[in-house]
Amino acid sequence: MKNTSIWSDYKLPSYPKLTQDITCDILIIGGGISGLNLLYHLKNSNLNIVLVEKNTLGSGITCRTTGKLTYFLDNILIKVKKRKGFSAAQKLAKAYQEGVDISRKIISQEMIACDLEKNTAYLTANNKDQKYLKELKNIYHNPNIYLKDKNTLVCKDSYVFHPLKYLDGLLHTLNNPIYENTLVYDITKKNHTYLVKTLNGTIKCQTVVFAGFYPYFIFPMVFPLNVDIEKSYISAIKTTQPKATNGITYTKPTMSYRYYQNYLLKLEKSHNLGLNFNPSKKFKALPSNSTYLWSNTDIMTIDGIPYAGKIKENMYILTGYNTWGMAGSSIASKIVSDEILGKENIYSKLFAPKRNMGIYRIIKWGKNIFTNSYAYLGSMLYKNPQVAYKKNSASVTLNGTKHIVKRKCPHLGCNLIYNEVEKTWDCPCHASRFNLDGKVISGPSRYDISVKRSINK
Ligand SMILES: Cc1cc2nc3c(=O)[nH]c(=O)nc-3n(C[C@H](O)[C@H](O)[C@H](O)COP(=O)(O)OP(=O)(O)OC[C@H]3O[C@@H](n4cnc5c(N)ncnc54)[C@H](O)[C@@H]3O)c2cc1C
Repeated sequence: MKNTSIWSDYKLPSYPKLTQDITCDILIIGGGISGLNLLYHLKNSNLNIVLVEKNTLGSGITCRTTGKLTYFLDNILIKVKKRKGFSAAQKLAKAYQEGVDISRKIISQEMIACDLEKNTAYLTANNKDQKYLKELKNIYHNPNIYLKDKNTLVCKDSYVFHPLKYLDGLLHTLNNPIYENTLVYDITKKNHTYLVKTLNGTIKCQTVVFAGFYPYFIFPMVFPLNVDIEKSYISAIKTTQPKATNGITYTKPTMSYRYYQNYLLKLEKSHNLGLNFNPSKKFKALPSNSTYLWSNTDIMTIDGIPYAGKIKENMYILTGYNTWGMAGSSIASKIVSDEILGKENIYSKLFAPKRNMGIYRIIKWGKNIFTNSYAYLGSMLYKNPQVAYKKNSASVTLNGTKHIVKRKCPHLGCNLIYNEVEKTWDCPCHASRFNLDGKVISGPSRYDISVKRSINK
Protein backbone atom coordinates (compact mmCIF):
# COMPACT_ATOMS: atom_id res chain seq x y z
CA MET A 1 0.00 0.00 0.00
CA LYS A 2 1.26 3.47 -0.89
CA ASN A 3 0.50 6.41 1.35
CA THR A 4 0.54 8.90 -1.55
CA SER A 5 -2.02 9.83 -4.15
CA ILE A 6 -2.45 7.75 -7.28
CA TRP A 7 -1.43 10.77 -9.40
CA SER A 8 1.90 11.27 -7.66
CA ASP A 9 3.45 8.32 -9.56
CA TYR A 10 3.42 10.63 -12.60
CA LYS A 11 6.51 12.84 -12.82
CA LEU A 12 6.29 16.36 -14.20
CA PRO A 13 9.35 18.06 -15.71
CA SER A 14 11.53 19.80 -13.14
CA TYR A 15 12.55 23.46 -13.03
CA PRO A 16 15.42 25.30 -11.33
CA LYS A 17 15.35 27.09 -8.01
CA LEU A 18 15.52 30.91 -8.03
CA THR A 19 19.05 31.91 -7.00
CA GLN A 20 19.20 35.65 -7.75
CA ASP A 21 17.14 38.85 -7.76
CA ILE A 22 14.91 39.20 -10.83
CA THR A 23 12.35 41.60 -12.28
CA CYS A 24 9.13 40.78 -14.13
CA ASP A 25 5.74 42.28 -15.00
CA ILE A 26 3.61 39.62 -13.32
CA LEU A 27 4.52 37.08 -10.67
CA ILE A 28 2.30 34.06 -10.12
CA ILE A 29 2.84 32.37 -6.75
CA GLY A 30 1.83 28.70 -6.81
CA GLY A 31 2.31 25.97 -9.39
CA GLY A 32 -0.92 24.02 -8.93
CA ILE A 33 -3.79 23.93 -11.41
CA SER A 34 -4.77 27.55 -10.58
CA GLY A 35 -1.34 29.04 -11.24
CA LEU A 36 -0.67 27.00 -14.38
CA ASN A 37 -4.13 27.64 -15.86
CA LEU A 38 -3.52 31.35 -15.30
CA LEU A 39 -0.07 31.24 -16.88
CA TYR A 40 -1.61 29.51 -19.89
CA HIS A 41 -4.27 32.22 -20.30
CA LEU A 42 -1.65 34.98 -20.11
CA LYS A 43 1.01 33.34 -22.25
CA ASN A 44 0.29 35.34 -25.42
CA SER A 45 0.11 38.70 -23.65
CA ASN A 46 3.68 39.92 -24.33
CA LEU A 47 4.07 40.47 -20.60
CA ASN A 48 7.07 39.11 -18.77
CA ILE A 49 5.46 36.56 -16.43
CA VAL A 50 7.25 34.40 -13.88
CA LEU A 51 5.80 31.56 -11.77
CA VAL A 52 7.30 30.37 -8.50
CA GLU A 53 6.44 27.22 -6.59
CA LYS A 54 7.60 26.43 -3.07
CA ASN A 55 7.90 22.67 -3.69
CA THR A 56 7.48 21.02 -7.07
CA LEU A 57 4.78 21.82 -9.63
CA GLY A 58 1.47 20.09 -8.97
CA SER A 59 2.55 18.76 -5.60
CA GLY A 60 -0.10 20.67 -3.59
CA ILE A 61 -3.83 20.02 -3.38
CA THR A 62 -3.97 19.38 -7.14
CA CYS A 63 -1.97 16.19 -6.78
CA ARG A 64 -4.44 14.78 -4.23
CA THR A 65 -7.77 15.50 -5.92
CA THR A 66 -10.14 12.89 -7.36
CA GLY A 67 -9.75 14.61 -10.75
CA LYS A 68 -13.35 15.17 -11.84
CA LEU A 69 -13.52 17.96 -14.41
CA THR A 70 -17.17 18.79 -14.00
CA TYR A 71 -19.86 21.39 -13.45
CA PHE A 72 -22.07 18.76 -11.76
CA LEU A 73 -21.36 19.71 -8.15
CA ASP A 74 -22.68 18.42 -4.83
CA ASN A 75 -24.48 20.78 -2.42
CA ILE A 76 -22.58 23.96 -3.38
CA LEU A 77 -25.23 25.45 -5.65
CA ILE A 78 -27.89 25.02 -2.95
CA LYS A 79 -25.63 26.87 -0.51
CA VAL A 80 -25.20 29.66 -3.08
CA LYS A 81 -28.95 29.79 -3.71
CA LYS A 82 -29.66 30.11 0.02
CA ARG A 83 -27.07 32.85 0.52
CA LYS A 84 -27.11 34.74 -2.77
CA GLY A 85 -30.34 33.78 -4.50
CA PHE A 86 -31.43 31.65 -7.45
CA SER A 87 -29.85 33.73 -10.21
CA ALA A 88 -26.42 33.74 -8.48
CA ALA A 89 -26.60 29.92 -8.20
CA GLN A 90 -27.57 29.67 -11.86
CA LYS A 91 -24.74 32.01 -12.85
CA LEU A 92 -22.23 29.94 -10.87
CA ALA A 93 -23.47 26.77 -12.61
CA LYS A 94 -22.90 28.49 -15.98
CA ALA A 95 -19.45 29.68 -14.86
CA TYR A 96 -18.43 26.12 -13.94
CA GLN A 97 -19.80 24.85 -17.24
CA GLU A 98 -17.67 27.45 -19.02
CA GLY A 99 -14.71 26.30 -16.89
CA VAL A 100 -15.17 22.74 -18.18
CA ASP A 101 -15.53 24.01 -21.77
CA ILE A 102 -12.34 26.11 -21.48
CA SER A 103 -10.29 23.17 -20.20
CA ARG A 104 -11.72 20.79 -22.80
CA LYS A 105 -10.87 23.29 -25.53
CA ILE A 106 -7.29 23.62 -24.25
CA ILE A 107 -6.96 19.82 -24.05
CA SER A 108 -8.20 19.45 -27.59
CA GLN A 109 -6.27 22.38 -29.13
CA GLU A 110 -3.00 21.50 -27.43
CA MET A 111 -3.58 17.76 -27.89
CA ILE A 112 -3.00 17.08 -24.20
CA ALA A 113 -3.01 13.37 -23.41
CA CYS A 114 -4.51 13.56 -19.92
CA ASP A 115 -6.84 10.55 -20.04
CA LEU A 116 -9.89 12.80 -20.39
CA GLU A 117 -13.01 10.64 -20.37
CA LYS A 118 -16.70 11.49 -20.63
CA ASN A 119 -18.81 9.97 -17.84
CA THR A 120 -22.39 9.74 -16.76
CA ALA A 121 -22.42 11.16 -13.23
CA TYR A 122 -24.86 10.47 -10.40
CA LEU A 123 -25.82 12.67 -7.46
CA THR A 124 -27.81 10.76 -4.85
CA ALA A 125 -29.80 11.97 -1.85
CA ASN A 126 -31.84 10.32 0.87
CA ASN A 127 -35.58 10.95 1.16
CA LYS A 128 -35.04 13.95 3.43
CA ASP A 129 -32.75 15.66 0.90
CA GLN A 130 -34.45 14.60 -2.34
CA LYS A 131 -36.16 18.03 -2.66
CA TYR A 132 -32.70 19.54 -3.25
CA LEU A 133 -32.17 17.37 -6.30
CA LYS A 134 -35.26 18.94 -7.88
CA GLU A 135 -33.96 22.38 -6.96
CA LEU A 136 -30.61 21.58 -8.53
CA LYS A 137 -32.29 20.39 -11.71
CA ASN A 138 -34.03 23.78 -11.93
CA ILE A 139 -30.83 25.67 -11.24
CA TYR A 140 -28.90 23.78 -13.94
CA HIS A 141 -31.77 23.99 -16.45
CA ASN A 142 -29.65 21.82 -18.74
CA PRO A 143 -30.91 19.02 -21.03
CA ASN A 144 -27.94 16.86 -19.94
CA ILE A 145 -29.18 16.87 -16.35
CA TYR A 146 -32.33 14.97 -15.35
CA LEU A 147 -33.90 13.09 -12.45
CA LYS A 148 -33.55 9.32 -12.87
CA ASP A 149 -35.73 8.77 -9.84
CA LYS A 150 -36.59 10.90 -6.82
CA ASN A 151 -33.27 10.10 -5.14
CA THR A 152 -30.94 10.35 -8.15
CA LEU A 153 -29.96 13.27 -10.34
CA VAL A 154 -28.00 12.32 -13.46
CA CYS A 155 -25.60 14.31 -15.62
CA LYS A 156 -24.71 12.84 -19.02
CA ASP A 157 -21.91 15.35 -19.54
CA SER A 158 -19.34 14.97 -16.77
CA TYR A 159 -15.59 14.42 -17.31
CA VAL A 160 -12.70 12.89 -15.43
CA PHE A 161 -9.00 13.23 -16.16
CA HIS A 162 -5.48 12.83 -14.80
CA PRO A 163 -4.72 16.20 -13.18
CA LEU A 164 -0.93 15.99 -13.45
CA LYS A 165 -0.99 14.87 -17.08
CA TYR A 166 -3.14 17.94 -17.73
CA LEU A 167 -0.53 20.18 -16.02
CA ASP A 168 2.20 18.49 -18.04
CA GLY A 169 0.31 19.29 -21.24
CA LEU A 170 0.01 22.96 -20.21
CA LEU A 171 3.73 23.09 -19.38
CA HIS A 172 4.63 21.90 -22.88
CA THR A 173 2.95 25.00 -24.30
CA LEU A 174 4.69 27.49 -21.97
CA ASN A 175 8.03 29.27 -22.37
CA ASN A 176 7.89 31.39 -19.22
CA PRO A 177 10.49 31.24 -16.47
CA ILE A 178 9.30 28.86 -13.76
CA TYR A 179 11.14 28.30 -10.48
CA GLU A 180 10.52 25.35 -8.19
CA ASN A 181 11.66 24.97 -4.57
CA THR A 182 11.24 28.73 -4.28
CA LEU A 183 9.14 29.70 -1.30
CA VAL A 184 7.74 33.22 -1.07
CA TYR A 185 7.84 34.36 2.53
CA ASP A 186 7.14 38.07 2.31
CA ILE A 187 5.54 40.63 0.01
CA THR A 188 5.97 44.39 0.42
CA LYS A 189 5.30 47.34 -1.85
CA LYS A 190 7.57 50.27 -2.65
CA ASN A 191 6.69 53.01 -5.16
CA HIS A 192 4.06 50.90 -6.99
CA THR A 193 6.44 47.95 -7.26
CA TYR A 194 5.99 44.73 -5.31
CA LEU A 195 9.06 43.26 -3.65
CA VAL A 196 8.49 39.57 -3.26
CA LYS A 197 11.01 37.85 -1.04
CA THR A 198 12.10 34.27 -1.51
CA LEU A 199 14.91 32.57 0.38
CA ASN A 200 17.44 33.08 -2.42
CA GLY A 201 16.34 36.18 -4.26
CA THR A 202 13.88 39.07 -4.39
CA ILE A 203 11.45 39.40 -7.27
CA LYS A 204 10.43 42.93 -8.30
CA CYS A 205 7.15 43.02 -10.16
CA GLN A 206 4.19 45.25 -10.98
CA THR A 207 1.51 42.62 -10.38
CA VAL A 208 1.29 39.65 -8.02
CA VAL A 209 -1.20 36.80 -8.22
CA PHE A 210 -1.38 34.48 -5.23
CA ALA A 211 -2.47 31.06 -6.52
CA GLY A 212 -0.94 29.29 -3.53
CA PHE A 213 -4.11 27.77 -2.01
CA TYR A 214 -4.04 29.67 1.30
CA PRO A 215 -3.30 33.42 1.01
CA TYR A 216 -1.65 33.64 4.40
CA PHE A 217 -0.24 37.13 3.90
CA ILE A 218 -3.63 38.80 3.53
CA PHE A 219 -4.84 39.77 6.99
CA PRO A 220 -3.26 36.62 8.49
CA MET A 221 -5.57 36.60 11.49
CA VAL A 222 -8.69 37.39 9.44
CA PHE A 223 -8.56 34.98 6.50
CA PRO A 224 -8.89 31.90 8.76
CA LEU A 225 -12.15 33.35 10.06
CA ASN A 226 -13.57 33.66 6.55
CA VAL A 227 -13.10 30.06 5.45
CA ASP A 228 -13.67 26.49 6.55
CA ILE A 229 -11.22 23.79 5.64
CA GLU A 230 -12.61 20.43 4.69
CA LYS A 231 -10.47 17.33 4.98
CA SER A 232 -11.27 14.09 3.14
CA TYR A 233 -9.71 10.65 2.84
CA ILE A 234 -9.31 8.82 -0.45
CA SER A 235 -8.58 5.21 -1.36
CA ALA A 236 -7.72 3.66 -4.71
CA ILE A 237 -8.59 -0.04 -4.99
CA LYS A 238 -7.88 -2.33 -7.93
CA THR A 239 -10.96 -3.36 -9.85
CA THR A 240 -11.51 -5.62 -12.82
CA GLN A 241 -14.59 -3.71 -13.94
CA PRO A 242 -13.87 0.01 -14.39
CA LYS A 243 -16.94 1.96 -15.57
CA ALA A 244 -17.49 5.25 -17.41
CA THR A 245 -19.42 6.66 -14.46
CA ASN A 246 -18.72 8.73 -11.39
CA GLY A 247 -20.85 9.82 -8.48
CA ILE A 248 -21.22 11.74 -5.27
CA THR A 249 -23.77 11.86 -2.45
CA TYR A 250 -25.72 14.99 -1.68
CA THR A 251 -26.62 13.64 1.73
CA LYS A 252 -23.83 13.75 4.28
CA PRO A 253 -21.55 11.95 5.01
CA THR A 254 -20.13 12.61 1.56
CA MET A 255 -19.01 9.67 -0.55
CA SER A 256 -17.58 10.38 -3.97
CA TYR A 257 -16.16 7.94 -6.51
CA ARG A 258 -14.68 7.67 -9.96
CA TYR A 259 -12.62 5.14 -11.87
CA TYR A 260 -9.13 5.60 -13.23
CA GLN A 261 -7.81 2.78 -15.40
CA ASN A 262 -8.06 -0.35 -13.22
CA TYR A 263 -8.72 1.53 -10.01
CA LEU A 264 -11.82 2.63 -8.18
CA LEU A 265 -11.13 5.92 -6.36
CA LYS A 266 -13.38 6.54 -3.39
CA LEU A 267 -13.49 9.64 -1.22
CA GLU A 268 -15.11 9.37 2.23
CA LYS A 269 -14.95 10.37 5.89
CA SER A 270 -14.91 14.12 5.14
CA HIS A 271 -14.94 16.49 8.10
CA ASN A 272 -14.33 20.06 9.07
CA LEU A 273 -10.59 20.11 9.69
CA GLY A 274 -10.77 21.71 13.12
CA LEU A 275 -13.31 19.26 14.49
CA ASN A 276 -11.32 16.07 14.20
CA PHE A 277 -7.78 15.42 15.40
CA ASN A 278 -7.27 11.85 14.47
CA PRO A 279 -6.54 11.23 10.77
CA SER A 280 -5.32 7.72 11.63
CA LYS A 281 -8.80 6.75 12.84
CA LYS A 282 -10.39 8.00 9.59
CA PHE A 283 -7.84 6.09 7.51
CA LYS A 284 -8.55 2.91 9.46
CA ALA A 285 -12.16 3.08 8.29
CA LEU A 286 -11.07 2.94 4.61
CA PRO A 287 -10.71 -0.41 2.79
CA SER A 288 -7.67 -2.37 3.95
CA ASN A 289 -7.05 -3.72 0.42
CA SER A 290 -6.36 -0.23 -1.00
CA THR A 291 -3.32 0.23 -3.23
CA TYR A 292 -3.19 3.96 -2.46
CA LEU A 293 -4.45 5.87 0.58
CA TRP A 294 -4.17 9.61 1.01
CA SER A 295 -5.93 12.66 2.41
CA ASN A 296 -6.57 16.14 1.07
CA THR A 297 -7.94 19.48 2.22
CA ASP A 298 -9.68 22.30 0.41
CA ILE A 299 -10.93 25.75 1.32
CA MET A 300 -14.68 26.24 1.68
CA THR A 301 -15.87 29.82 1.28
CA ILE A 302 -18.68 31.55 3.16
CA ASP A 303 -21.13 31.55 0.26
CA GLY A 304 -19.82 28.59 -1.77
CA ILE A 305 -18.29 30.76 -4.53
CA PRO A 306 -14.50 30.80 -5.10
CA TYR A 307 -12.42 33.88 -4.31
CA ALA A 308 -10.91 35.01 -7.61
CA GLY A 309 -9.96 38.55 -8.48
CA LYS A 310 -8.39 41.71 -7.22
CA ILE A 311 -7.76 42.27 -3.53
CA LYS A 312 -5.70 45.44 -3.79
CA GLU A 313 -3.95 47.46 -6.45
CA ASN A 314 -2.26 44.99 -8.83
CA MET A 315 -2.70 42.09 -6.44
CA TYR A 316 -5.02 39.16 -7.12
CA ILE A 317 -5.94 35.85 -5.48
CA LEU A 318 -7.26 32.55 -6.80
CA THR A 319 -8.57 30.15 -4.17
CA GLY A 320 -11.59 28.76 -2.30
CA TYR A 321 -12.90 26.16 -4.72
CA ASN A 322 -15.08 24.33 -2.19
CA THR A 323 -13.58 21.01 -3.40
CA TRP A 324 -14.37 21.77 -7.06
CA GLY A 325 -11.12 23.32 -8.28
CA MET A 326 -10.61 21.55 -11.61
CA ALA A 327 -13.37 23.40 -13.48
CA GLY A 328 -13.35 26.09 -10.76
CA SER A 329 -9.76 27.11 -11.36
CA SER A 330 -10.31 27.01 -15.11
CA ILE A 331 -12.97 29.73 -15.00
CA ALA A 332 -11.39 31.57 -12.03
CA SER A 333 -8.03 31.89 -13.80
CA LYS A 334 -9.79 33.15 -16.95
CA ILE A 335 -11.50 35.82 -14.83
CA VAL A 336 -8.19 36.94 -13.31
CA SER A 337 -6.37 36.93 -16.66
CA ASP A 338 -9.17 39.05 -18.18
CA GLU A 339 -8.98 41.47 -15.25
CA ILE A 340 -5.18 41.77 -15.59
CA LEU A 341 -5.49 42.37 -19.34
CA GLY A 342 -8.25 44.96 -18.81
CA LYS A 343 -10.95 42.81 -20.46
CA GLU A 344 -14.46 42.51 -19.13
CA ASN A 345 -15.57 39.17 -17.70
CA ILE A 346 -19.23 38.57 -16.86
CA TYR A 347 -18.26 36.48 -13.80
CA SER A 348 -15.86 39.00 -12.21
CA LYS A 349 -18.43 40.39 -9.78
CA LEU A 350 -19.68 36.96 -8.71
CA PHE A 351 -16.17 35.71 -7.89
CA ALA A 352 -14.80 39.02 -6.46
CA PRO A 353 -12.92 38.17 -3.23
CA LYS A 354 -14.19 41.35 -1.57
CA ARG A 355 -17.87 40.76 -2.39
CA ASN A 356 -20.47 41.43 0.24
CA MET A 357 -21.30 38.35 2.35
CA GLY A 358 -23.83 40.18 4.53
CA ILE A 359 -24.92 38.56 7.77
CA TYR A 360 -23.30 35.23 6.80
CA ARG A 361 -19.84 36.69 7.39
CA ILE A 362 -20.74 37.51 11.00
CA ILE A 363 -22.25 34.06 11.55
CA LYS A 364 -19.20 32.41 9.96
CA TRP A 365 -16.83 34.44 12.13
CA GLY A 366 -18.69 33.29 15.24
CA LYS A 367 -18.58 29.65 14.12
CA ASN A 368 -14.94 29.85 13.10
CA ILE A 369 -13.85 31.48 16.36
CA PHE A 370 -15.39 28.43 18.02
CA THR A 371 -13.83 25.94 15.55
CA ASN A 372 -10.38 27.55 15.65
CA SER A 373 -10.42 27.68 19.47
CA TYR A 374 -11.64 24.07 19.64
CA ALA A 375 -8.88 22.98 17.25
CA TYR A 376 -6.24 25.03 19.09
CA LEU A 377 -7.16 23.71 22.54
CA GLY A 378 -7.80 20.21 21.25
CA SER A 379 -4.40 20.12 19.54
CA MET A 380 -2.78 20.87 22.91
CA LEU A 381 -4.62 18.05 24.66
CA TYR A 382 -4.53 15.43 21.92
CA LYS A 383 -2.04 12.61 22.39
CA ASN A 384 -1.35 10.30 19.49
CA PRO A 385 -0.32 6.84 20.80
CA GLN A 386 2.48 6.61 18.18
CA VAL A 387 4.15 9.76 19.49
CA ALA A 388 6.32 10.52 22.53
CA TYR A 389 5.61 13.97 23.91
CA LYS A 390 7.80 16.42 25.79
CA LYS A 391 6.90 19.96 26.79
CA ASN A 392 7.32 21.68 23.38
CA SER A 393 8.42 18.80 21.23
CA ALA A 394 7.13 15.49 19.96
CA SER A 395 8.95 12.53 18.50
CA VAL A 396 8.13 9.49 16.44
CA THR A 397 10.42 6.52 15.84
CA LEU A 398 10.42 4.92 12.39
CA ASN A 399 12.79 2.15 11.28
CA GLY A 400 15.02 2.80 14.25
CA THR A 401 15.31 6.55 13.66
CA LYS A 402 13.77 8.96 16.11
CA HIS A 403 12.37 12.12 14.46
CA ILE A 404 11.95 14.94 16.96
CA VAL A 405 10.01 18.07 15.98
CA LYS A 406 9.00 21.32 17.63
CA ARG A 407 5.27 20.85 17.98
CA LYS A 408 4.10 24.38 17.24
CA CYS A 409 2.94 25.17 13.71
CA PRO A 410 4.88 28.25 12.51
CA HIS A 411 1.67 29.71 11.03
CA LEU A 412 -0.44 30.57 14.11
CA GLY A 413 0.96 28.28 16.79
CA CYS A 414 -1.42 25.30 16.92
CA ASN A 415 0.13 22.00 17.97
CA LEU A 416 0.90 19.59 15.15
CA ILE A 417 -0.66 16.12 15.04
CA TYR A 418 1.23 13.13 13.64
CA ASN A 419 -0.51 11.48 10.68
CA GLU A 420 0.78 7.92 10.87
CA VAL A 421 -0.55 6.83 7.45
CA GLU A 422 0.94 9.63 5.33
CA LYS A 423 3.84 10.14 7.77
CA THR A 424 3.35 13.87 8.03
CA TRP A 425 2.89 16.41 10.82
CA ASP A 426 -0.49 18.06 10.25
CA CYS A 427 -1.89 21.27 11.70
CA PRO A 428 -5.51 20.66 12.76
CA CYS A 429 -6.30 24.40 12.68
CA HIS A 430 -5.37 25.66 9.19
CA ALA A 431 -4.08 22.60 7.28
CA SER A 432 -0.33 23.25 7.13
CA ARG A 433 1.49 19.95 6.68
CA PHE A 434 5.15 19.05 7.13
CA ASN A 435 6.99 15.94 6.02
CA LEU A 436 9.33 13.94 8.25
CA ASP A 437 12.18 16.26 7.21
CA GLY A 438 10.19 19.19 8.59
CA LYS A 439 9.63 20.69 5.13
CA VAL A 440 6.29 22.45 4.71
CA ILE A 441 4.40 20.52 2.00
CA SER A 442 1.10 22.38 2.02
CA GLY A 443 -1.01 24.94 3.80
CA PRO A 444 -0.38 28.46 5.00
CA SER A 445 2.90 28.03 6.91
CA ARG A 446 5.71 30.02 5.33
CA TYR A 447 8.34 28.19 7.31
CA ASP A 448 9.57 24.65 7.80
CA ILE A 449 9.67 23.11 11.28
CA SER A 450 12.93 22.14 12.90
CA VAL A 451 13.65 18.42 13.07
CA LYS A 452 16.31 16.55 15.03
CA ARG A 453 17.12 12.92 14.43
CA SER A 454 18.78 10.26 16.48
CA ILE A 455 19.43 6.64 15.53
CA ASN A 456 18.33 4.13 18.16
CA LYS A 457 21.04 1.53 18.69
C1 LIG B 1 -10.43 15.33 -1.20
C2 LIG B 1 -10.57 16.31 -2.31
C3 LIG B 1 -10.98 15.87 -3.58
C4 LIG B 1 -11.11 16.77 -4.62
N1 LIG B 1 -11.56 16.34 -5.81
C5 LIG B 1 -11.84 17.24 -6.80
C6 LIG B 1 -12.43 16.83 -8.02
O1 LIG B 1 -12.67 15.66 -8.26
N2 LIG B 1 -12.73 17.79 -8.93
C7 LIG B 1 -12.48 19.10 -8.70
O2 LIG B 1 -12.84 19.94 -9.53
N3 LIG B 1 -11.86 19.51 -7.56
C8 LIG B 1 -11.54 18.61 -6.62
N4 LIG B 1 -10.95 19.02 -5.46
C9 LIG B 1 -10.50 20.41 -5.32
C10 LIG B 1 -9.22 20.67 -6.08
O3 LIG B 1 -8.32 19.59 -5.90
C11 LIG B 1 -8.55 21.96 -5.57
O4 LIG B 1 -9.51 22.97 -5.45
C12 LIG B 1 -7.48 22.43 -6.53
O5 LIG B 1 -6.57 21.39 -6.80
C13 LIG B 1 -6.73 23.62 -5.95
O6 LIG B 1 -5.69 23.94 -6.83
P1 LIG B 1 -4.69 25.14 -6.50
O7 LIG B 1 -3.81 25.28 -7.66
O8 LIG B 1 -5.49 26.32 -6.09
O9 LIG B 1 -3.93 24.66 -5.19
P2 LIG B 1 -2.62 23.75 -5.08
O10 LIG B 1 -2.68 22.59 -5.99
O11 LIG B 1 -2.41 23.50 -3.64
O12 LIG B 1 -1.50 24.69 -5.65
C14 LIG B 1 -0.97 25.76 -4.91
C15 LIG B 1 0.52 25.68 -5.03
O13 LIG B 1 1.07 26.85 -4.44
C16 LIG B 1 2.26 26.51 -3.78
N5 LIG B 1 2.52 27.54 -2.78
C17 LIG B 1 1.80 27.80 -1.68
N6 LIG B 1 2.36 28.79 -0.96
C18 LIG B 1 3.47 29.16 -1.64
C19 LIG B 1 4.48 30.11 -1.37
N7 LIG B 1 4.46 30.87 -0.28
N8 LIG B 1 5.51 30.25 -2.26
C20 LIG B 1 5.55 29.48 -3.38
N9 LIG B 1 4.60 28.54 -3.67
C21 LIG B 1 3.58 28.39 -2.80
C22 LIG B 1 1.97 25.15 -3.18
O14 LIG B 1 3.15 24.40 -2.91
C23 LIG B 1 1.11 24.51 -4.26
O15 LIG B 1 1.85 23.67 -5.14
C24 LIG B 1 -10.81 18.13 -4.41
C25 LIG B 1 -10.36 18.57 -3.16
C26 LIG B 1 -10.27 17.68 -2.12
C27 LIG B 1 -9.85 18.17 -0.78
